[in-house]
Amino acid sequence: MKGLTRFENDQNVLNNQSLSAVWPLFQPFDKQMEVNPRRVLLLAAKFHFMRYTTLITLFLASCVSSSLAQEKFEQLGTQLPTPNVYRTASGAPGHEDYQQKADYKMDIILDDENQKIDGKIEITYTNNSPDQLDYLWIQLDQNMRARDSETKAISTMSIDNGTSYYALKRLHNDFDGGFKIQKVAHGDDSEAEFTIVKTMMRVDLKEPLKSGASTNLKIDYWYNINNRKEIGGRSGYEYFEDEDNYLYTIAQFYPRMCVYNEVEGWQNKQFLGRGEFTLPFGNYSVNITVPDDHVVASTGSLQNDTEVLTQEQRDRFEEAKTADRPMMIINQKEAEKAEKGKPKGTKTWTYYAENVRDFAFASSRKFIWDAMGVNIEGKTVMAMSYYPKEGNPLWEKYSTEAVAQTLETYSKHTIPYQYPVAISVHTDRIGMEYPMICFNGGRPEPDGTYSSATKHGMISVIIHEVGHNFFPMIINSDERQWTWMDEGLNTFVQYLTEQEWDPNYPSRRGPPQNIVGYMKGDQSNISPIMTNSESIFQFGNNAYGKPATALNILRETILGRELFDYAFRTYAERWAYKHPTPADFFRTMEDASGVDLDWFWRGWFFGTDPVNLSIDEVKLYNVNTKDPEKELAAKNMQDESEPIYLGYALNLELIDDARVINKPELKDFYNERDEYKASDYDKKRYEEYLKKLTDDEKELLNGNWNYYQIKFSNKGGLPMPIILEFIYSDGSTERKYIPAEIWKRDDVQVSKVFFTKKKVTSVALDPNLETADIDRSDNYWPQRIPKSRFELYSPQNSREREPNPMQKEK
Ligand SMILES: [Zn+2]
Repeated sequence: MKGLTRFENDQNVLNNQSLSAVWPLFQPFDKQMEVNPRRVLLLAAKFHFMRYTTLITLFLASCVSSSLAQEKFEQLGTQLPTPNVYRTASGAPGHEDYQQKADYKMDIILDDENQKIDGKIEITYTNNSPDQLDYLWIQLDQNMRARDSETKAISTMSIDNGTSYYALKRLHNDFDGGFKIQKVAHGDDSEAEFTIVKTMMRVDLKEPLKSGASTNLKIDYWYNINNRKEIGGRSGYEYFEDEDNYLYTIAQFYPRMCVYNEVEGWQNKQFLGRGEFTLPFGNYSVNITVPDDHVVASTGSLQNDTEVLTQEQRDRFEEAKTADRPMMIINQKEAEKAEKGKPKGTKTWTYYAENVRDFAFASSRKFIWDAMGVNIEGKTVMAMSYYPKEGNPLWEKYSTEAVAQTLETYSKHTIPYQYPVAISVHTDRIGMEYPMICFNGGRPEPDGTYSSATKHGMISVIIHEVGHNFFPMIINSDERQWTWMDEGLNTFVQYLTEQEWDPNYPSRRGPPQNIVGYMKGDQSNISPIMTNSESIFQFGNNAYGKPATALNILRETILGRELFDYAFRTYAERWAYKHPTPADFFRTMEDASGVDLDWFWRGWFFGTDPVNLSIDEVKLYNVNTKDPEKELAAKNMQDESEPIYLGYALNLELIDDARVINKPELKDFYNERDEYKASDYDKKRYEEYLKKLTDDEKELLNGNWNYYQIKFSNKGGLPMPIILEFIYSDGSTERKYIPAEIWKRDDVQVSKVFFTKKKVTSVALDPNLETADIDRSDNYWPQRIPKSRFELYSPQNSREREPNPMQKEK
């Protein structure tokens, strides 16, 4: 119970700025309830442990900065929406929670000659909300690629010497994208009234859709598929010039129902390209017609394997279910043969997917296909990969294994994986997620070699995109509003997965020190995590890196693994197949852990301040025992250790010439007296003093305690725990964990006293890099000498100079 014991064990946790804190310093934890404030005052005075003046000064200091500090620890209160019957104050769905349902039947034709998609779809929309709906809103995401799209109109650009061909090609691009809607009809085939508003379409209903009722819509359409490598995109095609082949990764390929709920009504915010998607759940029956030599990978389970796969492929697939390493369903030799061929006709692949929020597929004659069954709580999930030969040797070795690891780690930290398959498809330079299927980059050099960055980039992107099955495909947050709710949470579990894959894995995001560069950057170029997708600065750091790091810190440092993992799983369980908002996450993490984290959400999610704590000062105090013999001996030692003024030292050499030496009659009592020797009078007084003390007071007086008073500053603004490591003169070490609440009343500087019988030789703040402190140079007492290496310039060894134009002309 790491989280709890850390708090409970800190019996010496106190804030020296309050009087009542002085007494508990001396007390074992279970005696703290007996504090008598009057006695505290007396003791404080008696032992000169802290002088009144110090206390008053500290009180004043705390008043000056208190209003800001209190804001940092203020409850989020009005910043979160008011709880209601759909969403409770505990962060759980309320008793009237509902989900709309959108079921699809689709006939899709992939035209490999013209790179276009033809679709005929039928949507059954069920209104489970208590509201009556007069119209439906539908997303036409392909319209982002239309010639007149808003995305093109608002994209900004400036030209400099670094401008690439890719950028200019995109500028000149005149691709005729966007849905060509041919027909919109009601269930009875009567024509429907509809209005297209850029990437959205409103369909007016013949009569209002009552609560609990369903309605059908039929839509016929087609669109041109984009060349991803020329104009980008989350889906599209990759063209292989050598053998004139296409590899399609197809998504956002059909008009998709918008989400309707009590948070935003219809979520009909335009698709501009960055803020991703928000979709209701439903069941999908999909026929995908492709050239008959293509292999299709898709969301859902294949319904007609006997029609589209050979007997040998089906046998291999059966074998793969219980294999402990990926089995080839289509091997490289077979794929290489297929990619040289031409189709004789078409083939239709039929899929069914239950309770998914979206659907995507990939198709090519180039695909190698491997699979392996993964046991998730007694159910076999098929982890599978589809890749062209260009992905090898990386893909056959790592892809399906990475899918399997993702399913196992995520199932442990969230909810068990829910779907029958999890597929990773390779196409160049991409990372994009859909239910059960994702498209991933990571391609070796043509000669089969690859860098460590390519290998780890490939494994990481697979873990990440497969991980999106959990966030947001099942724990279905609104991506168009909040990128961090899926990307940040997903990147966090991605980090856990990478570390379970290999504890030496070079994880890019998650470890606190990796976010330091971003956190200490120019504040005008940093937005809070709680910023809408379209307006975020530094997208990757803001929406992926920082939230992943914050959650990692919450797990390792603030709550401890046990409390965090319980709360995080609770969030996943509560919001699976529902639409959580940020407040539902914040509230659940507090509700299930029992720890007030409002300050943490404020600092990490609503603010931009970095963490920068420092040790300002360390002072040693010892109690004056009043024992004249002890105290005078101590004073003697102290005096002898003090430096002597140079002039006095030189004068001592002239002592023989001194008048009082040459004329002894000038000496009196004071010349002879040993000022370090205790008088009988002093000894007697001390005995009387002792008589008036209780036993525990005597123990304090003579306990030989060392009191180290340490001052800390919060220079960054984001309050965080003070984590200390003391190294003692006997070589032993001790760690102290002081919760962030120490900054509750003064978030600029706090002073704290630690007592020990040992001698402290050094103190380190955040010794294990837990807090993303942006400046560690002030984290050590005594201060460390910064070390670095510099290069010597030598003209004879420096790189050859470019000849000047005159030299070139010679
Ligand atoms: Zn992502």
